[in-house]
Amino acid sequence: MSELAPFRNAYEIRHVQTNAAKSCTVCYKPSDIVLITDNKKDWFYVCGSHLKDKNFSNLVYWNNEGKDVSNEWKEKCLAVEKAMKEVKKLEKGNEVKNKSSWLSWSKDKESKDDKDEKKSDKESDKEKGNDNLSEKDRKSADLANWRKELADAELQLKEFEKINTRYVLDSVFYKGRLMQEWKQRHANEIKEKLNNGTLFPSLEGVKSLRKEE
Ligand SMILES: [Zn+2]
Repeated sequence: MSELAPFRNAYEIRHVQTNAAKSCTVCYKPSDIVLITDNKKDWFYVCGSHLKDKNFSNLVYWNNEGKDVSNEWKEKCLAVEKAMKEVKKLEKGNEVKNKSSWLSWSKDKESKDDKDEKKSDKESDKEKGNDNLSEKDRKSADLANWRKELADAELQLKEFEKINTRYVLDSVFYKGRLMQEWKQRHANEIKEKLNNGTLFPSLEGVKSLRKEE
């Protein structure tokens, strides 16, 4: 990625209204998807199907500063997977362990997050209270907790993807975009120079040169 390039090879996706659809840069079919660079200097219409084609672009998770955040994305996917697995297990009515699986998982998570924090009284009360519940009650409480955990994890993943998804164009396409930008800029410069009369060297003195011949 050159510092001098007018825009990075990292495009975000935007959906325009259907009535604003324009022809795709690749196949000319109408599309309501626009790919746009972070600095908004380059954008073009493209079909959703091309975005799945590795020969056209690759999906990456980069934040606004261009830092690769795919590890965070993987963690969020794992959280969704874990919660989904627990929900399915509980829904199937598999045997519930003595201790609530959600409670022990959530305690693990908290102790990882706040290593130095002492266990609050509230938490031990919660645990004590849970022990008094019947197995059936515990099971349904567990299921409700995991369902909530799953919904939260899915929401977090969705938000993360919304913010950090970028498309890196195949180098040939990217070079094409840079070339087009350069041509456009060059054409504008020529137009500007023609308008203010600075495109050609001054013609003053041409007449006198002829006389000398
Ligand atoms: Zn297309």
